[in-house]
Parts: sequence; C-alpha cells; structure tokens
Amino acid sequence: EKTIPSDIEIAQAARLEPIEAIAEKMGLGRDDIELYGDYMAKIKLEAIERLQDRPNARYVVVTAVTPTPLGEGKSTTTVGLGQAFHHMGKTAVIAIRQPSQGPTFGIKGGAAGGGYSQVVPMEQFNLHLTGDIHAITAANNLLAAMIDNHIYHGNALGIDPYSITWRRVLDVSDRELRNIVAGLGARSDGRPRQTGFDITVASEVMAILALTTSLRDMRERFGRIVIGHTYDKKPVTAEELRAAGAMTVLMKEAIKPNLLQTLERTPALVHAGPFANIAHGNSSVLADRIGIKAADFLVTEAGFGADIGAEKFFNIKCRTSGLRPDAAVVVATVRALKLHTGKYRVTPGRPLPEEMLQENPDDVYQGASNLRKQVENVRKHGVTPVICINHFATDYESEVEAIFTVARELGVRCALSNHWAEGGAGAVDLARAVAEAADEPSDFHFLYELERPIKEKIETIAREIYGAGEVTYDRVAERQIREYERNGFGHLPICMAKTHLSLTADPSVKGAPTGFTLPIREVRASVGAGFIYPLVGEMRTMPGLPSHPAAERVDIDLETGRVVGLF
Ligand code: ADP
Repeated sequence: EKTIPSDIEIAQAARLEPIEAIAEKMGLGRDDIELYGDYMAKIKLEAIERLQDRPNARYVVVTAVTPTPLGEGKSTTTVGLGQAFHHMGKTAVIAIRQPSQGPTFGIKGGAAGGGYSQVVPMEQFNLHLTGDIHAITAANNLLAAMIDNHIYHGNALGIDPYSITWRRVLDVSDRELRNIVAGLGARSDGRPRQTGFDITVASEVMAILALTTSLRDMRERFGRIVIGHTYDKKPVTAEELRAAGAMTVLMKEAIKPNLLQTLERTPALVHAGPFANIAHGNSSVLADRIGIKAADFLVTEAGFGADIGAEKFFNIKCRTSGLRPDAAVVVATVRALKLHTGKYRVTPGRPLPEEMLQENPDDVYQGASNLRKQVENVRKHGVTPVICINHFATDYESEVEAIFTVARELGVRCALSNHWAEGGAGAVDLARAVAEAADEPSDFHFLYELERPIKEKIETIAREIYGAGEVTYDRVAERQIREYERNGFGHLPICMAKTHLSLTADPSVKGAPTGFTLPIREVRASVGAGFIYPLVGEMRTMPGLPSHPAAERVDIDLETGRVVGLF
C-alpha cells in the first residue's frame, strides 16, 4: 500500500489553474466573475440570466447513511464524483457548503473533502473564504442591536422583551455564550434581559442566503423575519424595525456564489453553509441555478444522513429552487455500518475502537439496516439512489462484498469508490452508475403538501423518514404551533432540528429502529427563510469545543508563511 500524504500536504502541493480558466470551463467569461486573488472568484448573479437558454445539467445530490461522528466522506465523494465525470469525457460542476469555523477548530477539522478529492485552495476554503460568513454575522447582529435599541428608545412597537427569539451569533463554538444576560450596568447601558448566542451557520440569515433566489427576494425575506411579538401578541418583523435594508446591504457581496476548483482543476461552487442538524444543511439555491446551466452534471451535497440533509434538500431546497434531482448518491462506509450494529461505542474526537477494524462482514450486513432505510428515504421522493462504498484502506474485501449483497437485494446500483486515494480516476465506476441512474425517468415528488397542519407535516417526516411510532410535544411546543398557525405561518415547510447521529432523537441509538417516540421540545419559526423549525430532543444551536480542539494543532510555519495542522 502506498502511503497517502496528509490532506493539507496534498492540497498545498497542488498545481492550481487561474480562476478565470476554471470559469471558462463553465462557459463564464471574465465579465461574469469578480476576482478574489488568483484562485477564487465570485460569480455575478447576472450570469444566471445570461445562461438561461442552455440545457439543464443532470442534477445529482450526494447524501449518506447515518454517519459516525467522524463523517463518512460525503464531501470527499462529492468532489471525487465531480472529478470522475471528466475522466468519462463529461463536464461536471460541484456545489458544496462553506464550512463553519466551529467544526474546523473543533472535532471534525476542515471540510474540503480529503485525500486526492479536495477543493483548493483549502486554507481559504476552511477559513474566511471571501468573507460571506462574517457578513452574515454582521447582518444578524445588526438586527439584534436594532431590536434592543428600539426598546431602549421607548419601544414604540410595544415589543414584549420576553418574546424575543432573535439571538446574536458568532462563528465560533463557544458554550459560554449559549445563555447570557445582556444590558447589565447603568440605565444608559441598556435594559437587562436574558438572551444568548447561536453559531452563525445556524442562523436564519444563513438559511436565507442558502435559499434566496435573487437580491430582491433576499431583501423581502429579511423584511419578513419575525423577531418576537408585541405585548398584544402580534408578530414583529425586521421590516417594522427598518433593519432589512441595511442587512441586505451588508449581504450584497455574500449573495454571489464563490468559485474555486478541485485538485483536478474542475469547477467547484462554494456558497452558504447552514448546519444540517440544526438548520437545513444545503448549499445555496443560487449556486445550483448557475451550476445547472454550466455542465453535463451538477453534483450537490446535502449534509449528514438522508433522513436529515436529503429530506430537507427534497422538501425545502427543491421547493424553493424549482430544480428536480435526477439521482441521489448514498455514501456508505464499512465503519459506519459496523457502528450501526449498536455493538461499538465511538467517542467524538477519539480514534475508532480496535475491535471495529477487525474483519467482520456479518456486522456490516447487520448494520446495513441503516443503509436500507436511507435508500428507502431517497426512493420515497421518487429519486433513483446509487450506493457509493467510500473505500477505506482498513476495509476487507468480504466486508465490501456484504454491501454489494445488500445493494443487490435492494435492486440499487452500487459502486466501490476509491476517489480518496486515487482522485477522479478512482470514482469512474461510481460516475458511470450515477449517469445511468440519472438517465432513468425521475418521478420526483415532495413528501408532504404545504397546506397540511404543522403537526401533520412533522408526523409525516417522523413516521415515514425516521421510522418513529409516535410524536410527543412539550407544552411550549404546543403553544408555539398554535401561535404560528394563528399568525398565518402554518403553510411553511418543516426543518427538523434533530441529531445527525441516529434516526431517532437519541444519538446513541443506532441501526434503523421503528416505533420509537420522537419528542418535540420546542418549535421555532424562521419566517424569512421560510420554514418551521422543531427542536427534537436535546438540540443545541451553539456547539462547544472538545477537550482537545483541532485549533490546538493549527499553526503558521514562520519560515514559509504556510498554515500547518489544519487537520
Ligand atoms: P462528510 O462530508 O461525510 O462529513 P468528509 O468528506 O468531510 O465527510 O470526510 C470526513 C473525513 O474522512 C475527512 O477528514 C476525509 O479526509 C476522511 N476520509 C473520507 N474518505 C476517506 C477514505 N476513503 N479514506 C480515508 N479517509 C477518508
């Protein structure tokens, strides 16, 4: 076995093409892009109009089994598949999310893919990129400041301070800020109230960036944001606080999708980065609208397992974009399926237990209950699935064969893929299977109709996608649902905030259990983004750092000025 250098070593050794040349591969000219250095650009939204008459690419979404805390290689597969199509003489654009600095400096490390399937330049990709996340933080916190300022200066709208749901944000995992008291000090220092911080990528502004379809639409969505209610229970919007215009101004560059490249110099769109467990977990509609006109294939990634990111891709993102997926890749790994036997414990931030690395095809076959369920979840939306076995050096042939057996039993195309170790050349079998699947007639449909009551929509997702038997609601959730329906928000789609580590609300429960109870603790409304947002069990909107955060290993090489240890 040859040894593979670290992700950052591979990325830093890459020979990049000037970004204009990458844009040209998408049929975009110099006038369509704005340069951010030599290897990054933003694409002007006018390009969407200009490309309108071109045929649509085949639209492929990459999803996965319920992952281990380490991730199963969805980003890596998205990049590898994008690269692989070029080995078949086809063109492909990929669309992925911009990573949050929370996970980058926390447990998971960066998110540019891995091995020989990465997006570069990876330092910029994982750190500030073109500043979009900072713009979101600024826009979000401007509204927060204007709310408190409105109350301080006499509260003409009659906002009930106890009703305010708009929190401040920061793109750092900082548990100390989850709950705070703001406004301490003298009378002139504001009015004390309990509030807190969320991580920026969980914010409604991020969700709006990901779902918006134009500058005008973004301005309108900001205006519709509901921050709380008045003493007589009427919703208060950002428009009434006269904040939406300035928020849009802060976001006017961020709305343009970013263009980078893969290690094999194919186009990579990077835009928006909502978390998939506590937000809707998909890259932007605008990036996909450009990508869909710019290649034979557009490969887009939906965060975490098919119960989370893909369900929200189908029922929230596709509803907004109007685009229809032609195929879905379900990434599976031997290690994740072994974990789904429920026999092993994996601790975030620690290596896998030794027993999990021993040859055990029976475990893989048994744990494939989760793969079967996630394949079913894709099929429930009328989309053709393809199983991608993301190959790890520690996999045994018998274990890989066990996954092929499951695929045959399900009647699903399946490919063993080696893009991590070999780049696009290692994923040509996968690309062929995806191309075939995408050629099949698609019967794409939504899981639920928007007109149904909120509870019915929640219960449809819980039963059909998670396998739950019953849904229970805390008193506060009951009250919130009644209030949202009374205020006319009942027609919005549902964005479940649930752990990504289990089909249930309990991250330690593996496999594909059925008949369990799904507890809804609280229900929030992101009216600007356009969804209702139930919190399932213990979900936190501000993560914390582990005992040894990845940040401890990151440094700068003072001789060369290069970043080291970014995983
Ligand atoms: P996801 O998008 O599913 O969270 P990533 O693509 O970010 O997962 O991969 C998670 C980590 O696993 C990355 O550090 C990546 O380099 C590594 N990885 C992915 N696929 C492989 C593989 N086949 N062999 C070894 N490491 C891999």
